[in-house]
Amino acid sequence: MSATSPHEMHAISPDTRHTVEDVLEYARRRALYEDVPLDKPMTPRDLERLASGSITADGIGSRRAIALFENVLAPSCVSTDHPGYLSFIPSAPTKASLAFDVVVSASAIYGGSWMEGSGAVYAENEVLHWLATEFGMPPGAGGVFVQGGTIGNLSALVTARDAARRGLSEKGRPAPARWVVVCSAEAHSSIASAAAVMDVDVATAEVDADGRLHGDAVARALDEHGDAVLAVVATAGTTNFGIVDDIAGVGAVARERGVWFHVDGAYGLAAMLVERMRPVFAGVELADSVIVDPHKWLFAPFDACALIYREPALALSAHTQKAEYLDTLTGKPDWNPSDLAIQLTRRARGLPLWFSLATHGTDAYRATIEYGIDLARRIADEIEAREGLSLVRDPQLSVVVFRREGWTLSEYEAWSDRLLEEQHAFVVPSSHAGEPVLRFAIISPLTTFGLLTGILDTLG
Ligand SMILES: *Cc1c(COP(=O)(O)O)cnc(C)c1O
Repeated sequence: MSATSPHEMHAISPDTRHTVEDVLEYARRRALYEDVPLDKPMTPRDLERLASGSITADGIGSRRAIALFENVLAPSCVSTDHPGYLSFIPSAPTKASLAFDVVVSASAIYGGSWMEGSGAVYAENEVLHWLATEFGMPPGAGGVFVQGGTIGNLSALVTARDAARRGLSEKGRPAPARWVVVCSAEAHSSIASAAAVMDVDVATAEVDADGRLHGDAVARALDEHGDAVLAVVATAGTTNFGIVDDIAGVGAVARERGVWFHVDGAYGLAAMLVERMRPVFAGVELADSVIVDPHKWLFAPFDACALIYREPALALSAHTQKAEYLDTLTGKPDWNPSDLAIQLTRRARGLPLWFSLATHGTDAYRATIEYGIDLARRIADEIEAREGLSLVRDPQLSVVVFRREGWTLSEYEAWSDRLLEEQHAFVVPSSHAGEPVLRFAIISPLTTFGLLTGILDTLG
């Protein structure tokens, strides 16, 4: 056995220098690929055959480990930033944001407290305040970047319950036997997941014929559940269709009844940055809490969700962790991002977006988001014009759902597998009201009309 010094991995030596340089060189190459390969998943068996045995007592060395990653592991991960990745919600980080993500790691910044990370927290807050202002929230609004929309929604709802509980107790009313979250049947699965974690019930209010949740349906749900409702959730852009609820109508009812109003804009709320789209999102300014995921339509790398509260102090009371070793942090009036959500240690995950916004300015973001909305409209018109294809719904944002008439789910699946096998594009079937359908989710400005019509051509 080789005698290993405890300093070997951390000291600056020719070996560690090479490791850092080789890794950064790979990162540089990947970040600057002219043509990102789409790639595709491998079976556990193939990966076992090609990639097993990397964890050993003596290490395999950085050269071999990088080669293993570059030649086997990376190619078995579908590139979510490929312009033909159109499933789920794609990612499309700007070059500035993804490069800066490397800096965040290299700088060993603790983003949980002001005491340790003031500069990083300040920069993140600049971005959060810009977003809050765009959403029409009051000057005191603020929040934190968390891992994703799922944690953002859960953290907001936990804050809402805390506030509701206090509200009832101040009025001398008892807490309900079971708390209830009101949302539409089209709300994202993470709302049901949050409710399950919190052990509260979900009451689904009916959407209208336009697929949107309106105030009257919410009012009926509030009549039925009364004091038990801890929050009303409106969706600013459903994941499957990009449908924006009647936020103003829902928000007005929630306000009138004194119920917490949460807006889940993980995917779609970014579109509010486009001037002509602002009326679609009217009412967001009424929100007590709101989320938008920069790793979706704000061109940041995974993983980042901006969670913004109208009154951040309410989140502090719900989320601040108390421990003796933390007293020196929590005893001060500092702005500590850890205290605003379910987390303690946190990466300064808002910094890549901050750097890219600072570099390019906000207008470039508005234009890039608008490109996606316009492209969705254009390809929707093209789908309507083609024999055998039809839209399931008119796109409101950048998701286009359509059908190839006469196809069964297995025909869609076979087509989708072939498209990926040929490294053409990644478009998986979705479903609507029991019917299998196809769906383009457009985020990347590198996705072109020609690429999309090329995909339609294969639906013959
Ligand atoms: C994607 C999405 C979420 C979940 O966000 P994650 O970042 O994937 O956790 C929640 N709500 C909506 C509307 C979404 O589109």
